[in-house]
Amino acid sequence: MAKRNFKKRLFGLVAIIALFIVIWQGVTRLVPNTDVTPHPATGENLLVAEFLDVDQADCELIFLPDGKIFLIDAGNRGDGEEIVAYLKGKNISKIDYVVATHPHADHIGGMSDVIDSFEIGKIFVPRVASSDVPTTKTYEDFLTSVQNKGLKLSAAKAGTTLFEGADYKADCFAPCSEDYKELNDYSVVIKLSYGIHSFLFTGDAEILSENEMLNAGYNLNSDVIKLGHHGSHSSSSEEFLKAVSPRYAVISCGEGNDYGHPHDETINTLSNLKGTPKTLRTDLDKTIIFKADGKTENGIIFSTKHDTVVE
Ligand SMILES: [Zn+2]
Repeated sequence: MAKRNFKKRLFGLVAIIALFIVIWQGVTRLVPNTDVTPHPATGENLLVAEFLDVDQADCELIFLPDGKIFLIDAGNRGDGEEIVAYLKGKNISKIDYVVATHPHADHIGGMSDVIDSFEIGKIFVPRVASSDVPTTKTYEDFLTSVQNKGLKLSAAKAGTTLFEGADYKADCFAPCSEDYKELNDYSVVIKLSYGIHSFLFTGDAEILSENEMLNAGYNLNSDVIKLGHHGSHSSSSEEFLKAVSPRYAVISCGEGNDYGHPHDETINTLSNLKGTPKTLRTDLDKTIIFKADGKTENGIIFSTKHDTVVE
């Protein structure tokens, strides 16, 4: 009798375990693929914008609140592998939106490595007048990678929205013209808005392009601006910065660079602005990371490699 009870109990136990396994398999099948888990911050409905320290160059990595990935520029050629490793370290396998602001080597240098290494959604570039299209190896490598992936370049047109999600959008403000003397002025300028917070990414757009954006009447007002052309005095006019009225100004430049970036004029213009924005520099602060909740006045915070979150 005792033996039969034991058998019964054993059978019951096996049945429960089997049932548990069946349920567990059902549950795990419902769990989304964690291979593409975005930055932990996006799980809190935050927009995370990282200004990567790529020396005298530009690269901005943005985690959109719905987990999509947005990359603006990819540093110099020598930065490509490092950027790829950084993104892979964040479990990124697909970049949904890429913007190559303009075809200078310090913006598209690492682009071919990036395109070769990830699944890419859309790539936006400025439409450059045929006489100004560069013939550099860097630019050709970029185009080759685009072609090899079977991708198409989308022209970023001023006055259009490049992409949007439920509560964010990327508006294109420049280039406003079709022909410029300076390749810098072809820079794609994007205002990325998330709820009440916004970021203005200006590439290397100079004062000519800034004036065009002012004349076009765009709402330039933004919490964070990445200053044009690495803080050069050829960008960042007082009038433009007044219209942007930023709380934070980010300068992407290399320590002890040959150009003297950021120029004193730019730093002076910033310090004379009403409400003097907090200036952050990749040469001093290294990689700078902003997190925005899109909801509250103080819901935008930053951290740098040198100090943890402040303000
Ligand atoms: Zn540049």
